[in-house]
Order: sequence, then C-alpha cells, then structure tokens
Amino acid sequence: MSYNSWLQCIRGCDQRYSIYDVVYRCQQCGGLLDVEHDVEALKARSAAAWMRLFDQRIRTNEWPYGSGVWGKKEWVCPQVANENVVSMYEGHTNCFWAERLGKEIGVEDLWVKLCGNSHTGSFKDLGMTVLVSVVKQMIADGQPIRAVACASTGDTSAALAAYCAAAGIPSIVFLPRGKVSTAQLVQPIANGALVLALDTDFDGCMKIVQEVTNPHPPHPPCQGGRGGAFHRGGSTIYLANSMNSLRMEGQKTVSIEIVQQFDWEVPDWIVIPVGNLGNVSALGKGFLMMRDLGLINKLPRIACAQTEKANPLYLSYLTGFKEYRPVIAQKTSASAIQIGHPVSYERAVKVLQAFNGVVEQVSEDELANAAARSDKTGMYCCPHTGVALAVLFKLVARGDVGPADRVIVISTAHGLKFTDFKVGYHDRVLKEVVARYANPPLELPADYRTVRDTIARELDRRR
Ligand SMILES: *Cc1c(COP(=O)(O)O)cnc(C)c1O
Repeated sequence: MSYNSWLQCIRGCDQRYSIYDVVYRCQQCGGLLDVEHDVEALKARSAAAWMRLFDQRIRTNEWPYGSGVWGKKEWVCPQVANENVVSMYEGHTNCFWAERLGKEIGVEDLWVKLCGNSHTGSFKDLGMTVLVSVVKQMIADGQPIRAVACASTGDTSAALAAYCAAAGIPSIVFLPRGKVSTAQLVQPIANGALVLALDTDFDGCMKIVQEVTNPHPPHPPCQGGRGGAFHRGGSTIYLANSMNSLRMEGQKTVSIEIVQQFDWEVPDWIVIPVGNLGNVSALGKGFLMMRDLGLINKLPRIACAQTEKANPLYLSYLTGFKEYRPVIAQKTSASAIQIGHPVSYERAVKVLQAFNGVVEQVSEDELANAAARSDKTGMYCCPHTGVALAVLFKLVARGDVGPADRVIVISTAHGLKFTDFKVGYHDRVLKEVVARYANPPLELPADYRTVRDTIARELDRRR
C-alpha cells in the first residue's frame, strides 16, 4: 500500500504543494499550510489493525519504527525513505501517575505525560525528527539546502541543533539575548550550531528568521532551483519553526501515545501549556486523525494554559475568539511560552472549538508554587509544566474538572533545563513569588549533637 501526504492551506484553498517544496504559506491567501494525508488509503487498514501495528512497534529495533514518532510513520511522513530518517528514538515517554498530587486536589486519575524525558529535554524532539528527516531527504534528492534555521525560546533550537548535528546538516539558531535558560543556550552551542543571540524578544527573532528564510524575497536574487512552481532552494536556508507544519506531524503523535498508554481509551481532559500554539494544534490533529480512522470515538476536552505575562490566546478566548490582538510578552519564568504573537493562532482556535476547549491564565506566583507543590510529590516540573498544573488547580476549584475525570497534564520540558528557576524558588528570590514550598538546605557545623537535634526538630516540623 502506498501512502501519500502533501501541504495544503488550512483555510481550504485548493492548491497542493509537495512536502519537499520550500513554501511555508499558501500562495493564494497567505494562510498557514498543514500536512494532509490520503485518508482513504489509510482507511484500507482497519482501526484494529493500526492499533495492533502501533503496539507491536513500540521500541522495536527495526529502524526507524521503534521511535514513538516513526512507529506511526504512515500517519506522519510516509514518503521519506527509512535511510534518510534522522531519529533518536524519541517519543514513548512515560505518563507519571500523579498519585499523591491527585489525592491532594481530589482528582485521583491524574497523569503527567513527561514529554521532556527526551534526547534534548523537551517535546520539541517529536517534531524536529520529522522536519530534519525531510531536509535530509531533500538534500539526498539534490536540493541545495545550505542550512536549517529557527527562532527559538530555547527548546526548539536545542532540538534543531541536535538533530542537524546527528545528520551532518548545518543549523542556525536565533535566540532572544538573555531570555533563555543557561542549559538551553549551551545546548545548540555544544551541538555546533551557528548561534545568534539577538537584542530582541522571541517575536523579534521570529520576524528576522522569516526574512532570512523567505523563499520569495521582495528583491529576488531568485535563481530558480530545479524548476517547479516553487523555488526549490537556489541557496535555501530552510525554516524550522512550527510555522513549518512538518513539525506538527511529529508532535501530533503525542495524542496517539497518550491514548495508546491507556489501552486506547481517551482521557476526559488534557491540560497543555501553550506559546506559539503549534503544540496544541498538533495535539488536536492527532486526536482528529484517530477519530477519522476509527481508533477512537470521542474527543477529550483541552485546556490551554498561559501565563498572565504572555496571554494573547487567553484574551482572545475571553471574546469568544472574535477578537485577537498580539501582546508584548513580559518576562516570565515560563520563558519557552513568553510569546506575544503566536504563529499558529488560527490553527489553535480551530482545535479549541472542536474540543470544547478552555483557556486559562496564571500568575508567576501560581506557576512557581504549582511546580514546587508537585515536586514535593515526586515530580521535577519545568515552569511551563507549572503553568499547566496551576491551571488544572483552577479548573478543579471551579468544578470544570470533576473528581472522576481522567486528566493528562502535558509536561513539555525536563525540569533539569530550568535550574535557575528551581534554585531561585528555593532561595526565595523569584520576582512576584511567595515561595510557599521553599526547602533550602540547612547549613550546620559538623557537630553530632547539632545535627541530631536539627533532624529531630525538622522531622517533627514536617510531619
Ligand atoms: C515550545 C514549548 C512550549 C509551547 O509550545 P508551542 O508550540 O510554542 O505552543 C511549551 N513548553 C515548552 C517547554 C516548550 O519548549
């Protein structure tokens, strides 16, 4: 059976583009493009047979199907030759049963999908494996791509740099200077990317990278490439931001994995921290595809979590999505979602409408304390996961999420990437945060009696 996919405008314009075309927007209306699949061809295999196949492939050694993404290759990117797949066996991250936290908040079926337990420490690996594999295929097919570039709040650049380094493809990352964590900054440096720290915010970096990668520059030195309607890369710098919908194809596998981890049962709620809105769009896409192909017959509700410092989706939600205004994102500990002008706004609104979704926002105090409270029950939450958990607490408090609901919180990055945030919290120096769960080390003389008395006192106090 041969499967096919192509790019098409999300607003329904009819022109199709190859996934190998260097084109990021509809040439008719300027809308975003999505990867579309030949659903009829996929329907030739029954839902039960797809589920069996996906289950069989989990962590298999048969390249590249052991990856959580490539185990669903037919649904993700059927055309790329297996030898051009650039994979680190991403995906298949565990769902942490938040038993103690769930008891505390009265939602016992609470799970945290640890997408940050991945090669570069965030869910961005899921999408980047697809994008870089397509680039490797394009290069193998003779397209002169010089480098792959992205603007990033930290995690996208780490993923891009690692996958490009593994494939031997040059990468360029644009970071807002001083606005990403130390770990996030050093990751692309270590992987040999060209790292450009610009004196602007993420939205400013996004603007520049779009100019640098524009296949149709206003003053064209357009040498044409090898024919076809689209510039197939005279000296292309290829765009790796989530505006490029190839990434969404990999990221959507998180929905399939979640359902798969619960023996193909759909949860009631998914809570996800959002910035540029690629992740929630992908989440929705995965569920809709499973429904269209008969693997599931209901959809979860989706809650998007933002911080008060960068809340354009929340503000739009308050108007029933009738109005949308970009904001200037303010400094927040949840730096990966410090985005004021999300590229995938239109996609995300469609998903929220299809999934009876809600959007909620939280303060710096709420996100930091939610992360710390959850850490005390065995997690190690990044600030974005803190945003999602704080939103969950609000949804439970106002009765939107009920005690019998099964809830999955998407943890987007590994807490170890955000050491400054953790240290700042426990040192009680985070701005606008009253650290209710701070647990600083006690500094003592090396004296037996003092140590013994301190232990006794502290164990009593913590009971
Ligand atoms: C990228 C990212 C997000 C947000 O994803 P978007 O697709 O930008 O909405 C959330 N958390 C972390 C840790 C991220 O890296």
